[in-house]
Amino acid sequence: MDLIEGVIKNKLSEKRLIHTLAVRDTALALAERWGANKEKTEVAALLHDYAKELKSEELIKIAQNNNLIASSFDLLQPQVLHGPVGSFLINKELNIQDREVLNAVASHTLGREEMSLLDKIIFIADMIEPGRSFQGVDKLRELVKHDLDEALIVAFDSTILFLITRNEIIHPQTIISRNSLLSGK
Ligand code: FE
Ligand code: FE
Repeated sequence: MDLIEGVIKNKLSEKRLIHTLAVRDTALALAERWGANKEKTEVAALLHDYAKELKSEELIKIAQNNNLIASSFDLLQPQVLHGPVGSFLINKELNIQDREVLNAVASHTLGREEMSLLDKIIFIADMIEPGRSFQGVDKLRELVKHDLDEALIVAFDSTILFLITRNEIIHPQTIISRNSLLSGK
């Protein structure tokens, strides 16, 4: 783990590093609560924003060259590509081969259908780590201790509602991920 911490210390800005370490702590607490593998949780959390500081053009280029564009909306909002591109790069550059870890990194921004326990933990930890502040975040921090799926749904809902108030595009994957959680209940 020291190796991975060293890599991200070099790679990420100070602000992003603080966020990442907070996601790690939050994710590990959730792994304890919900019975996820601690080691995989820690690796996925530390690496979830590996590609976050790449520019949009770079994200698009890497995604296009490696078949990582899942929707035309990815090109309208290239920042959503930092998940799939990060997953691709940690496999290539750091030789991370664990599918569960790679999936959790890839899906941490938009979710996916039938999210795994690790996907859910990384997604929600990213959203509720102590540095985050948005309306309802404290409720979410409480809810996630009692009902992980419900917390995910509330998290998707609050993202969607926020985008609507701002008149911004809602990536269709966000809707697909929310529907999958709702229908799985
Ligand atoms: Fe991210
Ligand atoms: Fe993040």
